[in-house]
Amino acid sequence: MTDTANKETLSFQTEARQLLQLMIHSLYSNKEIFLRELVSNGSDACDKLRFEALTDATLLEDDDDPELAIRVSVDADAHTVTVADNGVGMSRDEVVAQIGTIAKSGTREFVEQLTGDQAKDALLIGQFGVGFYSSFIVADRVTLTTRRAGLPADDGVRWESTGDGDYTIETASKTARGTEVTLHLRDDEHELLSGHRLRAILHKYSDHITIPIVMRKETPPGADINKPTPPDAEETETETETVNQASALWARQKSDITEAQYHEFYKHVAHDFEAPLAYVHAKVEGRQEYTVLLYLPQRAPFDLWDREQRHGIKLYVRRVFIMDGAEQLMPSYLRFVRGVIDSNDLPLNVSREILQHSRDVEAIKTASVKRVLGLLENLAEKNADKYATVWREFGRVVKEGVGEDGGNKDRIARLLRFASTRMDTDEQTVSLADYVERMAQGQGKVYYITADSFAAARNSPHLEIFRKKGIEVLLLHDRIDEWLVAHLTEFDGHSLASVTKGDLDLGDLAKDEAEAKPRKETEARFTPVLERIQKALGGKAKEVRLTDRLTESPACLVTEQDGMSANLERVLRAAGQAVPDVPLVLEINPTHPIVTRLKDETDEARFGDWSHILFDQAMLAEGGRLADPAGFVKRLNELMLTMAGEPKSRLWTPGT
Ligand code: ADP
Ligand code: MG
Repeated sequence: MTDTANKETLSFQTEARQLLQLMIHSLYSNKEIFLRELVSNGSDACDKLRFEALTDATLLEDDDDPELAIRVSVDADAHTVTVADNGVGMSRDEVVAQIGTIAKSGTREFVEQLTGDQAKDALLIGQFGVGFYSSFIVADRVTLTTRRAGLPADDGVRWESTGDGDYTIETASKTARGTEVTLHLRDDEHELLSGHRLRAILHKYSDHITIPIVMRKETPPGADINKPTPPDAEETETETETVNQASALWARQKSDITEAQYHEFYKHVAHDFEAPLAYVHAKVEGRQEYTVLLYLPQRAPFDLWDREQRHGIKLYVRRVFIMDGAEQLMPSYLRFVRGVIDSNDLPLNVSREILQHSRDVEAIKTASVKRVLGLLENLAEKNADKYATVWREFGRVVKEGVGEDGGNKDRIARLLRFASTRMDTDEQTVSLADYVERMAQGQGKVYYITADSFAAARNSPHLEIFRKKGIEVLLLHDRIDEWLVAHLTEFDGHSLASVTKGDLDLGDLAKDEAEAKPRKETEARFTPVLERIQKALGGKAKEVRLTDRLTESPACLVTEQDGMSANLERVLRAAGQAVPDVPLVLEINPTHPIVTRLKDETDEARFGDWSHILFDQAMLAEGGRLADPAGFVKRLNELMLTMAGEPKSRLWTPGT
């Protein structure tokens, strides 16, 4: 090969290189999946061409009704397997960007998670998506020749790599539009040169591919089966045959589809390596006719939180692929759902703009959402293990639905799961229905606490009285929870109440004669000290009052009933938003020894220090940030020295 000005040697991005090496080792026992991946890419490329040609017919290159196909061939002498498609192809830049790079967010984090334990890594790599690189499991050299549809024949690109770290890329002439990938098999992979073997693999993994997969007809026994098929050779119809069903899987009768076929189809549409967790397949007839085949993955994709992440629904019209990532067909809170929706009624030239404003599309979407909710409900009811997986992987996304999908709010509310003081683990397993069923006599409300970590929620002083009285409290610690409770104010006629907001009114639950009576006297005794504390705090607390919440801690902070919670304020601040200070009420536990002692403190300076410490530690206990952490530490040190009998104030002057 001569070095032309066009030939460049480039390095794989570091992560791509690491991933490639690990993949070769950890997926070896599954090596035949390379064929599935290449065929899947060929199929995607054909779909993409069809879609782009809707708006630019010149891409079809005088080929109005292109017979899109994927051709799998073998050259026994050269020890190669070739997978070729006449799809959209790639430009030089696209090859560099899509083959030389792993253009996925979270790639580095992903590579860092790999442990070197093959079984574990194989799962992780599978989850990340193996794709094109799986070629290197069986090949020690891979050549990809491609030409983007619409570009002249001389603007083809040849890419080649041995998978060790570098690849070359050069301009090449390619008459046929599309991509051809040739695998130079490793020495021990020659079994893959058998047409039977390849057919078996295609049958197992790629039967559902809608585009025909074409192979040379098997030569009759006795003939020279090793006769090479030259790469760009024109083959006649009679020499080739289609080896897959090449019909839309979702259009077949359910009874004609095996579980394994459903699974393989999922792996293709979802670009996933693992089987799906569950699926729903339905043909809908009536005013609108369409078919849905929708899947729940077993695991959240790496880009679940990426705003740019592709949505998982492929739209077809009468079996013809229209577009990927049709976000008009599935709301954002179900963005993890993968699959196909095939309409009999939409026009073939439907564009994203049309989709956005089509009432027919809206109706399909509404019905599809109900199917997915039905699938989730069914799992929740009948398969607790699977539902636990769904919730662990996607629960935080489903929670968005409460605010996003008002029409289904009640159904979504029933799907929610939370941690609670009853379980005391961070696993979210308690439904609102469970909670309501367990509510105590006279307990009108569903109590919850929001905090920015499970530990902060579980250990919050606000829960003391609830624990004492055996009242369950939901422990909300996902970021989205603040938003959730802003939209979900009641469930089954019971209002949801934050234990950190407003006056705590436990109603009948608190009617404990022994406690209720002396309350008035206590209040009278403490009024002066409450006023002194408020004054000492100088505006830090909006109000200082006695508490009903605490049994062990000396103090806690409370926000107004209808105001923003302190946790929400923290969430918004962390997100860089300007939020007004939330007015805080300091509640004091009159039975706590520190408080009793404070009542008798006559030294005003010391009283001030104690008051600040009470406030600041209450703030810390709920995971808040101190306005003046150094001041807190100084006061605390001062106090400790005093307790230890040191003479007063060598460290600082009170009041600073
Ligand atoms: P994925 O298919 O999940 O995106 P792959 O590693 O299989 O990941 O492929 C990476 C990218 O390379 C594809 O998204 C596509 O842009 C491009 N690509 C791979 N094979 C082909 C092909 N046969 N034709 C056109 N583009 C391709
Ligand atoms: Mg792929």
